[in-house]
This record gives sequence, structure tokens and C-alpha cells, in this order.
Amino acid sequence: MKMPALFIAHGSPLNALANNDYTQMLKILGQQLPTPHAILVISAHWQTMGTQVTGMPRPRTIHDFGGFPAELYAQQYPAEGSPDLAVQIQQLIPQVKIDQGWGLDHGSWTVLKFLYPAANIPVLQLSLDTHLSTQEHYQLAQKLQILRQQGVLIIGSGNLIHNLSLLQWRNINAEPYAWAVNFEQQVRQYLDKRSHEELINYLQMGEVARLAVPTDEHYLPLLYIIALQQVEEKVEYLYSGFEYAALSMLSFKV
Ligand code: ZN
Repeated sequence: MKMPALFIAHGSPLNALANNDYTQMLKILGQQLPTPHAILVISAHWQTMGTQVTGMPRPRTIHDFGGFPAELYAQQYPAEGSPDLAVQIQQLIPQVKIDQGWGLDHGSWTVLKFLYPAANIPVLQLSLDTHLSTQEHYQLAQKLQILRQQGVLIIGSGNLIHNLSLLQWRNINAEPYAWAVNFEQQVRQYLDKRSHEELINYLQMGEVARLAVPTDEHYLPLLYIIALQQVEEKVEYLYSGFEYAALSMLSFKV
């Protein structure tokens, strides 16, 4: 059975402790999707020199953030890994190195704890190679297509718009900035038309793109998911909204 591929906005780590429209969406989505054999997450929070895939049998839960409540650091997501699938991914993409040191960072577990609360499906992460261009990320991601046929759920975990320096930290419900709304509208039009070139070359959207994507690590997971969108597949939006005026929570599946 062919699995969909998901782009999920993860937003603040505090979502892991929340019960809101967004976390409800994830819970229901996990119940609706066909049960995957394994999950491969491309998280904004694992950037490396060269692409790596986690290959350990038991990935640790990584609390890769600072200054949050103790309850957040106590969270564990005890899913197993899949060394066999890591080897298969290396065979598909020979430049990928198998990693034994990382684990599941908060781009993975803060989402998966709602999607699959039982943590009974093996999870791997694929890193973002900081040396690749957006076009190269897109092309690398296309090589993962076969995994969907094999029942692997591929999730890109980032945020379409992620400007930490302009976040309004005191108000999660703050009105989004006009440039943020503008950029998201343009991206949605490109997603609807399957205009992948415009999304790969997003900086051509000008000033709104530079404000929305001041660094590209939260945007790149989106390119991994559209790279898996086949010609006949439509983008289906799962959630939209903003947090702290400058974080887009737009999430979709193909
Ligand atoms: Zn993040």
C-alpha cells in the first residue's frame, strides 16, 4: 500500500504538552492514515555535513531546546529504530552515511507523540546536508519515492515560515505579520498548481521570502515532501494557522 507523505509544522516545543486544534489534528490524522511499517522523518533540527540516516536499534529522545518547563524534558518517545531500513536507504542513495549518535530530536517526537502515541512503529531520521542547494535537496528526496510503496511514512517536520527574531513570544495568538500572510498565500498557490520550481527557488519571491525563511532549515523539509508528490497527487491541507505572528503552522499531505 502506498503511503502518503506529510509536511508537518512543529512550531514551539511546547506543543508537545498542549491540547489544542493542532494537536487534535495530529491525533485524528494518526488514526486515519494506514498503519506504516516504519516512519522516516526529515527534521529541521538535524543539520549535518553530508546526509545521514539514523541506524541505531533504539534511538534516544533528544531534548534539543533550552529554557522550557521540566515536564518537557521528561518526555520520552521510546520507538525503536530500523537498522535494516537505514541500510536500504543507503543503498538507494549511496552518499548517505549511517549514523549511530543522533536519535529523535524534537522535530520528530513532539509530532509523533500525537500521531502515534503508542510509539510502536520504528522511526528513523534523515539529516539535512548543509552543503546542498535547494535543487539538490529536492533531487535527493525524489530517490526516497520507492519507500512510500513499501509502507514507509515520510514526514518533513519544519515550518514554512520561521522567523525567531520577529516572534511575539508573549502571545501565541498574535496576528500574523502581513508579509507572513503574503508569503504563505503565494506558497499555497504554488502548492495547488504543483509549481515545484517556484518552491525550490523560493527566494525569487523577494523580500517576503527573506523574512519568512531567514535560515532555510525549517523550509527544506517541505521540499522533501513535494519532491515525493507524483503528477496525479494533489496537496491536501491538514492545518493552517500562525503562532507568535511569525511561525506558520501550515501542514499538508500528498
Ligand atoms: Zn523547529
